[in-house]
Amino acid sequence: MNLHEYQGKALLKQYGVAIQEGIAVDTPEEAVQAAQKLGEETGTSWWVIKAQIHAGGRGKGGGVKLAKSLDEVRSIADQILGMQLVTPQTGPEGKLVRKVLVAQDVYYPGDNEPEEYYMSVLLDRASGRNVIMYSPEGGMDIEEVAEKSPDKIFREFVDGGSTLQGFQARRIAFNLGLSGKAFKEMVRFVMALYKAYVGADASLFEINPVLKTSDDRIIAVDSKVSLDGNALFRHKDLAEQRDLNEEDPVEVEAGKHNLNFIKLDGNVGCMVNGAGLAMATMDIIKLSGGEPANFLDVGGTANAQTVEAGFRIILQDPAVKAILINIFGGIVRCDRVAQGVVDAYRNIGEVSVPIIVRLQGTNAEEAKKLIDESGLKVQSVILLKEAAEAVNAVIG
Ligand code: GDP
Ligand code: MN
Repeated sequence: MNLHEYQGKALLKQYGVAIQEGIAVDTPEEAVQAAQKLGEETGTSWWVIKAQIHAGGRGKGGGVKLAKSLDEVRSIADQILGMQLVTPQTGPEGKLVRKVLVAQDVYYPGDNEPEEYYMSVLLDRASGRNVIMYSPEGGMDIEEVAEKSPDKIFREFVDGGSTLQGFQARRIAFNLGLSGKAFKEMVRFVMALYKAYVGADASLFEINPVLKTSDDRIIAVDSKVSLDGNALFRHKDLAEQRDLNEEDPVEVEAGKHNLNFIKLDGNVGCMVNGAGLAMATMDIIKLSGGEPANFLDVGGTANAQTVEAGFRIILQDPAVKAILINIFGGIVRCDRVAQGVVDAYRNIGEVSVPIIVRLQGTNAEEAKKLIDESGLKVQSVILLKEAAEAVNAVIG
């Protein structure tokens, strides 16, 4: 689950990470009030207005703007709120901006080369450890830095069970070229950031830029936070911050039925139990000349209801020309799933696309019989090869 910048910053602050202070609002009037409040609290008389969407590169798309008066706060907030913001990460259709963050301006006026760093914390799957990735070349695309000057990207590894050690934080501050007060501030920043990452069960923190202010403070100016969905049950407060507007509506619907669904661009829908078999099924579809329209893992406990929900979700996609159901009966018995398919098919009514069902494993023969005798236009096959041929036959 991803957080908005303002939510991520609030989380960081709880753990003692210094941030650019700000207040998230929904209207230009609230933006002005927020700016006044920030003025009183922080002494700032300039503000940045930042679009809150789940995508980076907002600055480039015109979603981050500096306001030098309350009038400008109002007019910029008015302009950004409700805009369809296009950034390099949103795709050409962009994303609707529903909230803006009014934040204190933390850059030194007229400073054309502010000290901006890049820092992220994530799991390095290859070594099974957490890694803090950082670079003195912050503020810009890290992908670009990685390509042009990979030597400017540093990594500090931490074993999952242990904490970040002081010497590691000092090495980071040193590699970023800091000294004196800024060095100490960076050590504190990194220690708190890592604590926040572990404490929140995050899967990614990306802070770009981390800023060294003119008075040598180190603060997070941006925050991209992804949380581990499997750990959300122990972070109710964070789970509540989920913004469904930012997620694909079909995937949200699938989530309600405990289905792992990912929309793809092809023409053959598929419903499978188990992620590995789902991947293999997508391969089979490709080999048969089709393109998968989705990834769908109904899980190990597929029953009539989940099968029906999966069906409905796949059928919402007008591009789907055929559906391949591929179930391996282990704990889940094939005849149960077959019954689910037959029931779902009857409940949904007219299903215009051909359906190919491959049920293999426990009670596969009974399942095939059930489907063949149901009188429905559902074709049952047992071998994977037969499934591929059947798909090929219906999509031509
Ligand atoms: P992103 O483009 O989505 O990554 O959004 P960021 O929060 O990183 O903001 C984009 C850019 O806006 C930053 O790299 C900064 O250069 C600039 N920016 C952010 N906050 C301030 C601020 O307080 N003052 C000024 N002058 N610029 C800012
Ligand atoms: Mn950024």
